[in-house]
Amino acid sequence: MASDRRIFTNLQKRQGVSLQDALGRGDWHGTKGLLQEEPGSLIEAVLHSGLRGRGGAGFLTGKKWSMVAQASSGPRYLVVNADESEPGSCKDRDILRYEPHKVLEGALIAAVAIGATKGFVYIRGEYGEEAAILERALEEAYTEGFLGHRILGTEHSFDLILHKGAGAYICGEETALLESLEGRRGMPRLKPPYPSSVGLYGAPTLINNVETLAAVPTILRRGPEWFASLGVPGSTGTRVFSISGHVNTPCNVEAELGIPLKDLINTHAGGVQGGWENLLAVIPGGVSVPLLPKALCEQACMDYDSLSRMGTALGTGSVIVMNRSIDIVEAIVRSAKFYMEESCGQCSPCREGTGWIWRLLKSVQAGEGRAGDGDLLQSVATQMSGRTICALADAAAWPVMGLMRHFRAEVEERLQPPSVLLPPVSSAVDQERWAW
Ligand code: SF4
Repeated sequence: MASDRRIFTNLQKRQGVSLQDALGRGDWHGTKGLLQEEPGSLIEAVLHSGLRGRGGAGFLTGKKWSMVAQASSGPRYLVVNADESEPGSCKDRDILRYEPHKVLEGALIAAVAIGATKGFVYIRGEYGEEAAILERALEEAYTEGFLGHRILGTEHSFDLILHKGAGAYICGEETALLESLEGRRGMPRLKPPYPSSVGLYGAPTLINNVETLAAVPTILRRGPEWFASLGVPGSTGTRVFSISGHVNTPCNVEAELGIPLKDLINTHAGGVQGGWENLLAVIPGGVSVPLLPKALCEQACMDYDSLSRMGTALGTGSVIVMNRSIDIVEAIVRSAKFYMEESCGQCSPCREGTGWIWRLLKSVQAGEGRAGDGDLLQSVATQMSGRTICALADAAAWPVMGLMRHFRAEVEERLQPPSVLLPPVSSAVDQERWAW
């Protein structure tokens, strides 16, 4: 993609990451003018651009800003969600590493738009190097007057504090993040109320993903029409895709939304290992979304509506490519184990269902599944979905639903026929299977 259509011009670290380097790329240019605009016009511009949150849910960013801005008077907060933990996703990591000043400038503009004077960056505990880079960028920004009291001589003040999480996946969920930030165990809150009205310390709070905020300064400088002219209707602009798995050159790459999945893999990731014909399936939006078999990958486009029509989702934009060398059941067993271990345990369907799914899949993988386990898997996954406090249960259920929708035959062929007389519960798998 031509560089004048990109936002993240240093995503491949071809230049330095210091403030001087960032200024050379155009960061912090005209920021004072943006801060002097009416907050409402900043929100209107972001809304007009069509920017949707890049953390997974894809909520309209401008709408989220306006909900916080309209909340009752009193203190309000901005939180940068840098708790990137979705397996397959590492785009925020590289934005934090190579474009930290875009994140800080975007955070400042968002804070001014909603009227916040204090904000936090909640960064994933394992991102030690990224936290150190961001610390340095924060120091530089304070020294140059881009953060702190009366920024660039305007009436606006804003302090941004870096907070390191402890590595729990669930703290990427907005309300679990707030709990953790307040010093408690990271467990999602019941909603409503939503953070836009009752968030950090009970105050209205805007929580935005790293990439979302980092895109804002360029959108405002170049104009919302420029951003809206990229991508496709309903999925405007560019986004950073993480492409991993069985590709020849795994990478993070910025591309326009709506790009055909096949082009994304072939053009930017060097193609599938063993060639396109060797492709088995792709998980298009981080491990929590349903996979697509090869036949659908031929037609898939990387935008919200197109993927939704195919029964999957854009999620975090993390493309995991699997060729024919893998055991697809084993791949989903690994995802199931991850979600079982990361469940916070508050909701029965999630606490029990994630373990149940994992044990069932493991016995299928080992060839010890029983006739009817395919239906049972589908039934457990369906009953978990949409019945819990947060979306982790859906994240655990959807990969199983994708497996059963597209690879049911691979599951069924491993099940013991009904005529087989099963031994008493004695094997290791059986003991685990019934151990809940
Ligand atoms: Fe916790 Fe799972 Fe319920 Fe989310 S769905 S609150 S992770 S138990």
